[in-house]
Amino acid sequence: MSTDGGPPADLRQELTADYRVFDLTGDHYAIGYQMGQVTELRPVETWRDRETELAFARACAEVVGQFHPPLLDEFRGYAAAQGCAWEDVLPHFSNNLPEGALVGCTTLARRLPDGRVLVARNHDFLYMRKERYLRRLSPTGYPASLGAQSGLIGSCYDGVNGYGLFAALHTIRARIADRVAPGVPSYLVPRILLETCRTAREAASRIQDMPHLLPFSYLVADPDEMFAVETYPGITRVRQAEGDSLVVTNYYEAADMRPLQGRRDVSEQIERIRWIQERIAKDSTGDAGGWFWAQRLLRDHSLPVCHHRPNHATLWSLVADLTAHRVAYCLGAPCRNEFREWDWPKNEVSDS
Ligand SMILES: [Zn+2]
Repeated sequence: MSTDGGPPADLRQELTADYRVFDLTGDHYAIGYQMGQVTELRPVETWRDRETELAFARACAEVVGQFHPPLLDEFRGYAAAQGCAWEDVLPHFSNNLPEGALVGCTTLARRLPDGRVLVARNHDFLYMRKERYLRRLSPTGYPASLGAQSGLIGSCYDGVNGYGLFAALHTIRARIADRVAPGVPSYLVPRILLETCRTAREAASRIQDMPHLLPFSYLVADPDEMFAVETYPGITRVRQAEGDSLVVTNYYEAADMRPLQGRRDVSEQIERIRWIQERIAKDSTGDAGGWFWAQRLLRDHSLPVCHHRPNHATLWSLVADLTAHRVAYCLGAPCRNEFREWDWPKNEVSDS
């Protein structure tokens, strides 16, 4: 991996990456404002002319507003703190429909022999991405959550909320749809779910209701149920876990969606799923109910599950026991960094 004898490139990036933890309270405008004060507006790559990009982003913002209106306030707060125009933050609603997504991320949900539900996940992405933020959110009037993101305003790639719901995303390489209607960008989906849903079933149904911009899959789980949801502009398929586990990586399991992947080789993804399923089948959960078993699995290089590639790597990991309300994040590749436990997000008003 390293050609000059120094540390591998992804480790060099990890050591200089912006791993920060934010505690954010108040209304959504205040949350956006706080982020805008202490982070830099992440530039969004452009692929088309500015007016086309802005018009599309504007239409996406409108769709996002239909599903979670206060998120728009978070964008407004961010813009206000930076003293910039709405047009400057607007591209964060669509990411300008990026072309050529990368493969990464592995998530599993598993019901342990004693009935508890455990989730484990590696977030893999381009290691040039410096923003790697863990956010503890307590927005006024909405469920509290703990989740990670990479600098896009309002986003969340994986996390848990005060009700015991978990949500995570996975990119899928598929052919670019010829015409994509405005919709909800993948990186806002887990955030919307964590702030508007209590259960995995509710979350799966909500993903189905949304128009989607990009080929992505999601894993949603709670102490009772787990679902995988596969999306493509205009198509959504929901699959409930058969048996006691569910593993999601970067490919379409739904038979009618597989052709969208074209001739792309997904054998590595399928192999990763099988390998993890075998590990689950063989595990006797001798240690603390699978907690450390899951961490070991996320560190594993034999397939690998923990990635160190020429341009992308595992940027963070999480393990959560949705039943016992226990959650830990590892900020950095799990093979060389420690998992740290965080308090379970506590909803402001408990009405459950
Ligand atoms: Zn590793």
